[in-house]
Amino acid sequence: MRINISDLISNRYGEMPLDVTVDIEKIYRGGEIFNLVEPVWIKGLLFRMEGNIILKGTLKAIIQTECNKCLDNVIKDLSFDFNEIIINENEDDSADIMIDVNENSINLEDLIERLLILKLPMRVICKDDCKGLCPKCGINLNNSECDCDNEDIDLRLIKLKELLKQN
Ligand SMILES: [Zn+2]
Ligand SMILES: [Zn+2]
Repeated sequence: MRINISDLISNRYGEMPLDVTVDIEKIYRGGEIFNLVEPVWIKGLLFRMEGNIILKGTLKAIIQTECNKCLDNVIKDLSFDFNEIIINENEDDSADIMIDVNENSINLEDLIERLLILKLPMRVICKDDCKGLCPKCGINLNNSECDCDNEDIDLRLIKLKELLKQN
C-alpha cells in the first residue's frame, strides 16, 4: 500500500492524518519468522518540522512465533508509539531518504516492516518460567516429565536427594 505525500512535500506547513490497516503476512529477522495474525493497524500524523517530514503515531500488530525454549506457539500483542523521520531535507542526498520514497509516496509495507523489526522481542518465551525441552529426549518439560539424567538439573534438588538418601 502506498501513501501519496506529494501535497506534504510541496506545501511546507501541511499535515496529513493516516489511519489504515495493512496486510502483511510475515516478518523475517535472521532465521526467525514472525507471522502477523491480523492486519497491522497504523494510525498517526504526517507533518513537516524544520524541513523534515515526520510520521508520529501508533502501530498495533499481533505476532505469532515459537517459544525460544520449548518451541510452543506464542502469540504476542505488539503495540507501540513511534516517531519516524520519513524525509530529512537537511541532510545530503545519501542520508536524505530514511524510508524508500518513490514518486512522492511511502511504501507502508516497508515502513511497517522497518518499525516492527526494531520492536520485535529479542527472545520470545511462552511464559517466564518456561521449562523448555529436555536436552536428551526432547520432551516438552512444561507438559510432562521424563526420567532423563540431565546435568543441568537444579543443584538444590540433587543436594536434597543426597540428604534423603543419607537418612
Ligand atoms: Zn516455552
Ligand atoms: Zn528427557
